[in-house]
Amino acid sequence: MRMILVGPPGAGKGTQAARLVEQFRIPHISSGDMLRAAVKEGTQLGLEADQHMKQGHLVPDEVVIGMILERIKKPDAAQGFMLDGFPRTRPQAVALDAALEAAHQALDVVVVIEVPDALLVERAVGRRSDPQTGTIYHLKYNPPPKEIESRLIHRDDDTAEAVATRTAKYHADTAPIIPYYLEKGILKRVDGVGNPDDITQRLIAVIND
Ligand code: AMP
Repeated sequence: MRMILVGPPGAGKGTQAARLVEQFRIPHISSGDMLRAAVKEGTQLGLEADQHMKQGHLVPDEVVIGMILERIKKPDAAQGFMLDGFPRTRPQAVALDAALEAAHQALDVVVVIEVPDALLVERAVGRRSDPQTGTIYHLKYNPPPKEIESRLIHRDDDTAEAVATRTAKYHADTAPIIPYYLEKGILKRVDGVGNPDDITQRLIAVIND
């Protein structure tokens, strides 16, 4: 199964992707996680990405495309993958298609998680992640256990200001990939408002449809 999760920042892509990959037994490939790891390691890629990310801007296409096309060639992705956060622009979608076609592969499904803009800032500002387990919490909606609170991470770009920029970028740059996949007949939509378990069930239902 080769699939993509699309949605605005704070839609729950990371949380849901982590659950879906268990269900479908495919690797979770998050462009944001890969870029954050590169920034932390201080690699050339990380140095290029850092400023763009902090401001809530997109990292240039050529940088991200190269990183993802290399990643999906790895043996663990031979039977499928869950892409989270990529593609985020039309050129990225076109480059992914060309690479898959060259490998005689194709995408099975692209799912958009829909959440109204008004909810996104609160979701992101309250978001915290556990560096030891990768679990994503929300201070109000999914509070972390007290004993791990001190080690939790709040992303640099989960401020109200950066989320506003990221949401605007989503509408300007990423939303145009939706008609692209609609035309290919592989686009599905899921309501991303509600209890995370219910949303997982909605996702599984449309993916298996
Ligand atoms: P995410 O974790 O998916 O919210 O991504 C965090 C940040 O990483 C984004 O705001 C961008 O700066 C950068 N990023 C992640 N994926 C991409 C992509 N496909 N294209 C460009 N920039 C990206």
